[in-house]
Amino acid sequence: VNTSKDHPLWQLIRTVPDFPKPGIDFYDITPLLRSHVDELIDALLDALPEGLMDEVDCLGAVEARGFVFASLLAGRLGKGMILLRKPGKLPPPVANKSYALEYGKDTLEMQNNLPPERVLLVDDILATGGTLNTAHTLCHSAEHTVVGVLVLLDLIDLHEPLPVPVYSVLQA
Ligand code: AMP
Repeated sequence: VNTSKDHPLWQLIRTVPDFPKPGIDFYDITPLLRSHVDELIDALLDALPEGLMDEVDCLGAVEARGFVFASLLAGRLGKGMILLRKPGKLPPPVANKSYALEYGKDTLEMQNNLPPERVLLVDDILATGGTLNTAHTLCHSAEHTVVGVLVLLDLIDLHEPLPVPVYSVLQA
């Protein structure tokens, strides 16, 4: 784990204190998306162990910034995606699960009539782990195998170990 900020991608993340609530340091990744998409995808792929993508059938994209990252990865890799969405967006049959967040409460939903696949979950930031643990639970309930989790930034002090390996470019 390297929590120093010497990775070049840190220059493209803006830390916004007290957003969206007092006491939260919000990591704004939009500068990175604006001008360094190729570097972002290179770095995400470099964070994965050699050969892991050969074991992955599809990417599990978590709404909303996870959609962006997973779409870019899917395009680069020629893989497909399954979507983990905010409630009420996907037509049935769906399963959902609610969870607590660093700032608030949320629910994720996924279609549960898909054939079992080996899934790599993708999101921008791992904070409390509520989102990705919920995504893992939903995938598991739908009989998918979660090979791991890929994030740009892992806020390592905010969560307990996840039930699957976590791959990250940056740690803080
Ligand atoms: P969590 O469920 O707490 O692990 O939070 C993960 C989700 O919330 C991710 O999809 C992030 O996009 C967002 N998030 C959580 N904490 C932050 C933060 N400090 N800055 C920016 N986004 C965050």
